[in-house]
Amino acid sequence: MKKYIIVGGGTAGWMSAAILSNVLKHTNVEIVLIESPNIATVGVGEATIPSIIDLLRYLNISLEDFIKVTDSTFKLGIKFVDWLRVDHHYWHPFGSVGGKIDTLPFFHHWSLCYENGLKSEYTDFSPAIVMAKNNKFFIPQGNKANLFSSSDYALHFDAIKVAAYLKDFSLKNGVEHISCEVSAVNKDNEKIASLKLTDNRIVTGDFFIDCSGQHALLIEKSLNVGYQDWSEYLPVDRAVAIQSEKNTSLPPYTESIAHEHGWRWKIPLQSRTGNGYVYSSRFCDDETAYKLLLDNIDGEQLTKAHFIKFTTGKRDKIWHQNCLAVGLSSGFLEPLESTSIHLIMKTMLTFMQMLPSESLHQATIDEFNRLMDIEFECIRDFIVAHYCLSQRTDSNFWQWWQTAEIPCSLKQKLNLFMEQGRLVNNDLDLFASDSWYSILAGMDQKPKDIDPLCHISSLQVVKEMLQKRALALQHSTNKIPSHQEYLQQLIFQKVKT
Ligand code: FAD
Repeated sequence: MKKYIIVGGGTAGWMSAAILSNVLKHTNVEIVLIESPNIATVGVGEATIPSIIDLLRYLNISLEDFIKVTDSTFKLGIKFVDWLRVDHHYWHPFGSVGGKIDTLPFFHHWSLCYENGLKSEYTDFSPAIVMAKNNKFFIPQGNKANLFSSSDYALHFDAIKVAAYLKDFSLKNGVEHISCEVSAVNKDNEKIASLKLTDNRIVTGDFFIDCSGQHALLIEKSLNVGYQDWSEYLPVDRAVAIQSEKNTSLPPYTESIAHEHGWRWKIPLQSRTGNGYVYSSRFCDDETAYKLLLDNIDGEQLTKAHFIKFTTGKRDKIWHQNCLAVGLSSGFLEPLESTSIHLIMKTMLTFMQMLPSESLHQATIDEFNRLMDIEFECIRDFIVAHYCLSQRTDSNFWQWWQTAEIPCSLKQKLNLFMEQGRLVNNDLDLFASDSWYSILAGMDQKPKDIDPLCHISSLQVVKEMLQKRALALQHSTNKIPSHQEYLQQLIFQKVKT
C-alpha cells in the first residue's frame, strides 16, 4: 500500500496517524489525514489505562513533556462508589495485587484469611491503591525490588490537547493534513477508490482509515458493514459532560459514582476537573440527568453542558476490504473502565502486525477481525459485571439489572468463579485476573468452596504474613511524595521517569 488516507482528526485520527507515521517514516508510503473544520470532535475521553504509557514509549514520546503539554495527572485506578449498595465503595487498581503464594493466585489465600478474621480488603494489598487512598504517587525506579514495583499507572488528560500533541508529532513525521469535509465516498468494486471533498478536490488512496467518529463515514455509510447493538447488555446510551474548577487535592484516581439511572465520572486534571453523568434514556430524561450532574459538581462550573448520544456495541467487521475503522467509528462500550483510547491503539498496533502489502489477503483480515471481536467482547463482559452484581434496587434502572440477561461468556466466567474462585484462562482478555478479582471481591462475591491447594500452606502463617504485608505497605507510603508534589517535580524536571 503506497497511500493511506485517514478521515477524522479526533483522538483516533491523530493517534492512528502518529502510529502509522512512526512505523512507516523511513519508507516512501504517503499518509494523508483529512479533517473537517466544521464537524467537532466528541471532546471527551480523558481517562486512560496503563497501555497509554506503553504507547508513549512505543512512539518515543517523553512522559514529562506529554504531561506538561496535555494537562495530565496520574491515575492509579478507579474508585467505585455506591455500586454494590449506597454508602459502600471499592477499588479497581492498576498493577498486581499480592502476586502468587505457593503457585496459587493471591486471591485464594486472601479469601481464606478474610473468612478467618483478616481485616484487610483484597485491594489493601495493591500498592497502587495504597498510594491512591493517601493521595500519593511515585514511579519506582530501576530494578530495585521495591514494595511498590508491582504498581502500575495511567494518565488523565485533556483530549483536545492530546489530539493537538499527536498532530504535531505526526506532521513532523511527514503526515499531510487536509482541513476540509469529505462530501462523498467513491467506490470501485466494493473497495473505496477515492474521497470527494467539499472544495471539489478528489483524494485517491490505497487504504482508508475511518476515524470519523460516530459518523462512521466510510465503514458504515459507504461499506455498510453493520453494527452489533449491545444495548440489551449495556443499556446506557446518553452522557452529559461539564468541566469545573480544579480539585486542589488532585486525587491520583478516577472516581465512578453510581446514581439512580447510571453513573457519574470525576476526572482530575492539573487545571480543571472533568465531570460527566452516563445514563440510560429508557429510565432518565436529559433534564433530570443534567440537574443531577450540576448538583454534584464541586467548585465553579467552567463550561456549558455537553450532551452526547451513543449506542453501545461494535461494528460487525472493523476491517473490511481496504478500510479499517478506528475509534468511535468501530464501536463504543461506554466509558466505565476507560477502554476506548486503549481500543484505538490496540486496533492500530494489531493492524501494524498484519499490515497489507500490495494486495489484501482475506485470511489476514478475518484473523484481525477475530482478534478484535475477542478484545471487545472481553471488555464488554468486564463492564457488565460491574452492573449485574449490584445489590441496588432503589430505581427502575437498578431493578432492571436484577433480571437483566447477561452474555453467555460472562455467565460462564461468573459460574466458574462462584464454584472455587477460579477464573477463565484467557490471555486475550485486556483485564488480567487481578482486575477481575478486584471487581468480584469489591462487589462482595464469595465462592462457595475454596481451592484445595490453599491447604498446602499454613493458614496461620499466611495470615500473619498478610497482616505484616499490609502494615509494611501502609508504613512505606508515608515516605512517598504527594501526587501534587510528584507532578511538580516531574514538570520542573527534578525527577526523571
Ligand atoms: P471524534 O472525536 O468524534 O472525531 C471525529 C473526527 O472526524 C472529527 O475530527 C471530525 O471533524 C471528523 N469528521 C467527521 N465527519 C467528517 C467528514 N465528513 N469529513 C471530514 N472529517 C470528518 N475513552 C477513553 O478511553 N476514556 C474515557 O474516559 C472516555 N470517556 C468517554 C465519555 C463519553 C461520554 C464518550 C461518548 C466517549 C468517551 N471515551 C472515552 C471515548 C473517546 O472519547 C473516543 O474513543 C475518542 O475521543 C476517539 O474519538 P474519535 O476520534 O473516534 O471521534
